[in-house]
Amino acid sequence: MNIILLGPPGAGKGTQAKYLISAFGLKQLSTGDMLRAAIEEGSDLGKQVQLIVDSGNLVPDNIMIEMITTRITRTDCKGGFILDGFPRTVLQAETLTEVLSQKKIKIDHVIALDVKLSSLLDRIRNRALETAQEQRRQDDDEETLKHRLNVYKEQTEPILPYYEKLGLLKTIDGMLAPDEVSKEINDVLAE
Ligand code: AMP
Repeated sequence: MNIILLGPPGAGKGTQAKYLISAFGLKQLSTGDMLRAAIEEGSDLGKQVQLIVDSGNLVPDNIMIEMITTRITRTDCKGGFILDGFPRTVLQAETLTEVLSQKKIKIDHVIALDVKLSSLLDRIRNRALETAQEQRRQDDDEETLKHRLNVYKEQTEPILPYYEKLGLLKTIDGMLAPDEVSKEINDVLAE
């Protein structure tokens, strides 16, 4: 089973991905984690994307598409994967559809976590408070977060109608408690 998790920063995608890993043994592919790892390593890619990631802007589509298509065809994804943080633009979504169809890989569900944007600032503030200073993300400060939410609205939200048209989109109330969100996701997957 292959799943795409969509939702703004702080919607709970990471938490739900963890649930899906333990419940279904899926492989989580978080493009944000991959980029942060590259930055940490100081690789060429890391150097190229650091300023963009820290500022809360989107890394160019060609870089992201290359990164995810290489990753998704590795053998550890054969048992199913969760895309967390990709796609983030309509072009990424369209290219993903093409690449996967060439490789005869199917997306089974696109799950969107619907949350009030006004509550996300609180969630991210809490996430920052609960995280040790040295592990805190550069892009979790208030100004950058507001920018990331705008970027989400402008560039990522238009993906929702794209997947709706493909008949893959299921929207879940992300304002519920994490356990309840997991239960709702379970119900969608069992349909
Ligand atoms: P995340 O951990 O998913 O919130 O991603 C953190 C940051 O990584 C984002 O704010 C972007 O700068 C970058 N990023 C992650 N995934 C993508 C993507 N699919 N397209 C463009 N930029 C991305």
